[in-house]
Amino acid sequence: MLKSLVRPVLWALVFAIYSAHPSAAEECEPRDFLEMPLNSASENLQLNAVLMAYPQLSYDASSNELVSLTESRRLFLTEATDASPEKMLISASFADQFLYVYPLDYDLSSRLEPWFDPGRLRNSEFMEFLYFSDEASARASLKRVIHDSSGTQFRVTAKQGVSCQLAAVFERIGSRHPDVFKSVGGSFNWRNISGTDRLSVHSYGAAIDLNTELGGYWVWSGSKAGSVGNYHSRIPREVVAEFERYGFIWGGKWHYYDGMHFEYRPELVLYSRLMQSAKN
Ligand SMILES: [Zn+2]
Repeated sequence: MLKSLVRPVLWALVFAIYSAHPSAAEECEPRDFLEMPLNSASENLQLNAVLMAYPQLSYDASSNELVSLTESRRLFLTEATDASPEKMLISASFADQFLYVYPLDYDLSSRLEPWFDPGRLRNSEFMEFLYFSDEASARASLKRVIHDSSGTQFRVTAKQGVSCQLAAVFERIGSRHPDVFKSVGGSFNWRNISGTDRLSVHSYGAAIDLNTELGGYWVWSGSKAGSVGNYHSRIPREVVAEFERYGFIWGGKWHYYDGMHFEYRPELVLYSRLMQSAKN
């Protein structure tokens, strides 16, 4: 009698433990930003891109605000400032973030234009609206995403689906390109961008750094600001493409290149597609 009871109880326990700790890949449906149909609801392509990228947001046209459907938060959409690149880097408006269109091909020639850094202009109010304004909340949202064949782990936020999307990237890359998962630079880190008082995207758990040697970083190259030239990236294009597919942009396409750096900015991937389709 006792024996016949123990077995189902044990199985129930195993099931409960398993369900309480599903891996990121099992609990979510990753979104393919290169394939998803484009939204043409508004003439404002920036807004279309943001609403497609973050489905829990809506837009209140009467106040020109983004509205979170899951939290009681709103964000007024600030217009382009036409400020100098140096000023925008410190304080970008919402619209400034889209000034440089992120190129989806692997052509690194556009980055030769000084300040062509699509994604490096960030509106801090927008980032806080999407993520957090304090370290404790960021920490509470972290998940470990493991690249299976190398065992390399990254701590990223589950917010906005970042951990889910990253798990999908790793699954697609599989055991190809093992070198990019060696000597990685890290992931979550509540800190300012080096030499600035602005929070890095690593603070939100929405960016990771792969192999620091293969990527290259303009600061380490000895280049002077304003005259960063060609560089030789050894991050394979297939790796870059898989990250982009799941919404991560690559710092290797920036004039001020940061070739180890991938950050979750699906709105920039989608905006690039929307701009391309508007041209055709
Ligand atoms: Zn980084």
